[in-house]
Amino acid sequence: MNQSKAIFEEAKQYIPGGVNSPVRAFQSVGMDPIIVKEAKGSKIIDVENKEYIDYISSWGPLILGHASDIVSNGIMDYIHKGTSFGLPTKIEVDIAKLIHEAFPSMELIRMVNSGTEATMSALRVARGYTKRNKILKFEGCYHGHSDSLLVKSGSGTLTYGVPTSEGVPQKVVEDTLVGEFNNIENVKQIFKENQNEIAAVIVEPVPGNMGVIPPNKGFLEALRTITKEEGAVLIFDEVITGFRLGFGGAQGTYGIKPDMTCLGKIIGGGLPVGAYGGKKEIMEMVAPLGNVYQAGTLSGNPIAVKMGYNTLNYLKNNQDIYKTLEDKAIILEKAFNEHIEKAGVPARVNRVKSMLTVFFNGQDVVSYQEASTSDTQMYSQYFKGMLAEGILLPLAQFEGMFLSAAHTDEDLEKTIKASKKVLLSL
Ligand SMILES: *Cc1c(COP(=O)(O)O)cnc(C)c1O
Repeated sequence: MNQSKAIFEEAKQYIPGGVNSPVRAFQSVGMDPIIVKEAKGSKIIDVENKEYIDYISSWGPLILGHASDIVSNGIMDYIHKGTSFGLPTKIEVDIAKLIHEAFPSMELIRMVNSGTEATMSALRVARGYTKRNKILKFEGCYHGHSDSLLVKSGSGTLTYGVPTSEGVPQKVVEDTLVGEFNNIENVKQIFKENQNEIAAVIVEPVPGNMGVIPPNKGFLEALRTITKEEGAVLIFDEVITGFRLGFGGAQGTYGIKPDMTCLGKIIGGGLPVGAYGGKKEIMEMVAPLGNVYQAGTLSGNPIAVKMGYNTLNYLKNNQDIYKTLEDKAIILEKAFNEHIEKAGVPARVNRVKSMLTVFFNGQDVVSYQEASTSDTQMYSQYFKGMLAEGILLPLAQFEGMFLSAAHTDEDLEKTIKASKKVLLSL
């Protein structure tokens, strides 16, 4: 038995499925997981000392690559000064200011420890602010694993075919309405049927959890208009897109100002961080200013926030990085499309800026409806083929590839060569 197999067998004795987050079990690609030893730049090395060019990027956070010196700059100093106080520190102000600079719509910002916490808290605040209970989310959008949001969500729940998790009371999700992404008529209909009852619309402005899906022209604008008209809070879940599409996230890219925004992933620089914020008037509902309770022992943890701050500060001062990242993604997109055509496989590439998905699907994927008809079997074959060539792709069809500053021209060339070989063999 090789070492990774041995570690995984032992893991299964103590950890459900051997993993601390379901997708890591590699079930959807039908194999045992890679056990990571270490990583640097664009490469992950497993316990067998096999090296892979990594396009998972920890599911989005690692925009500057693995073990970046930029991100960890000065961190040992911080650790020696104490790792948690449960009291305010200056670095929390620094990161809040920086986030506000990138996201002016976030007038007040609260740090939390994960994206799940950010969306869960934002919903509570929106409900408190509007004095309404219902929320509208979109099929295939994932907003973390809090009860009321675990309805027709993407990512692992798509892969595992658990649209609604067991253990979530029917009563809790009764107030969760589900709409169709990119279908504004559907949204209008839902508002019509639930007049003055919808507290918030929460959306991934560019869904990344059913694979990458670009918003149709006008869809996000229409959401902005209708929520304003109907007195509902528009929440952009930018846990992936924040600091990924550009320094100002999806809202900066598309020029739309949501009422509230949720962040995570990149803002922690690889440590567990989330944040939510929005209009002053809404965020003043949060304790101790208002009566919506939300707290966290480790929220705003100085080490995590420092790593996040380093990342965001670098991005702020090097915004040309976004053009470079997109250029790399375009190179992959073009090559993949070429090979797909040559190989005659039913597939297409969806790309928004530096995130992309190869959908094994014969039709254009514009919403959950099409995404869900993708050939996951073929994706799994593609994944395995690529892995054998030393390329680590997302562990499921319904996830995005994320480019990082660490991906080199050589990495791209190697990836393209491998992809050609694998696609032609499918
Ligand atoms: C990852 C993700 C979350 C959940 O964040 P966690 O840190 O995993 O809790 C929420 N929303 C979106 C869009 C995400 O991609």
